[in-house]
Amino acid sequence: GRGIRIEGLKKRYGSGDTAVDALKGVDMEVAPGEVVGLVGPSGSGKSTLLKCLGAVIEPTAGRMTLGNEVIYDDGWKIRDLRALRRDKIGFVFQAPYLIPFLDVTDNVALLPMLAGEPNGKARQRALELLTALDVQHRAKAMPSQLSGGEQQRVAIARGLVNRPPVILADEPTAPLDSVRALAVIRILGDMAKRYQTAIIVVTHDEKIIPTFKRIYHIRDGVTHEEAGEGRGFD
Ligand code: ADP
Ligand code: ADP
Repeated sequence: GRGIRIEGLKKRYGSGDTAVDALKGVDMEVAPGEVVGLVGPSGSGKSTLLKCLGAVIEPTAGRMTLGNEVIYDDGWKIRDLRALRRDKIGFVFQAPYLIPFLDVTDNVALLPMLAGEPNGKARQRALELLTALDVQHRAKAMPSQLSGGEQQRVAIARGLVNRPPVILADEPTAPLDSVRALAVIRILGDMAKRYQTAIIVVTHDEKIIPTFKRIYHIRDGVTHEEAGEGRGFD
């Protein structure tokens, strides 16, 4: 199994009188091939949860399992946050943050190249993903030459290139119009299925919320699961 499971996750910032309990016991489960929404008001703990999931910060308590591997358990120090981030988690952000002086192919191939994969193989893998995302015709273009929708697809390719079992997408559609926003969600759904990735989409975007089959609402550091209105895209 490659999905992600979170049980009773807690995160406290600081200590004593000024401590903030940002996560108070979060439960969440995302299967391989599934896309779920994570929705909540400002200050509810979304960023904190993403940072815990993305191995950017350590939780305070609870348990996180990736596939069959427990990556965090009550009070553990996560042994190698960087390796976990590099090998297990893909990130897709709102602003694509493409590197302006690298062409599209190398933007996608950079991570595997940095990890020591031969340039030719890394570029070949990048091209496969660009093809799956239907932007292969822009492979030699520079980021500044791309439309917003194209940039976002390239950013998705980059998030997928190391075949992570989990993708965290933070407001991936916010700047896009309705048609393009729905296209991005459809693409994430296709990619989840194709690569058996578990995808969590943090969003406020009313355009896409109705598409999710399952949504986790987070409020004041606690999540509640709800069936969404959507049927996903299968
Ligand atoms: P969201 O992303 O939903 O807006 P956050 O996870 O950023 O929520 O914040 C959840 C709570 O944790 C808020 O009360 C916020 O003020 C607090 N918080 C976030 N980061 C820190 C930090 N580094 N130190 C102290 N408190 C923090
Ligand atoms: P989408 O976002 O769905 O790709 P657009 O209508 O924004 O569609 O773009 C259509 C075409 O115009 C794309 O092939 C894109 O590469 C090209 N294009 C858009 N903006 C620019 C730009 N600033 N420079 C060069 N080409 C662009």
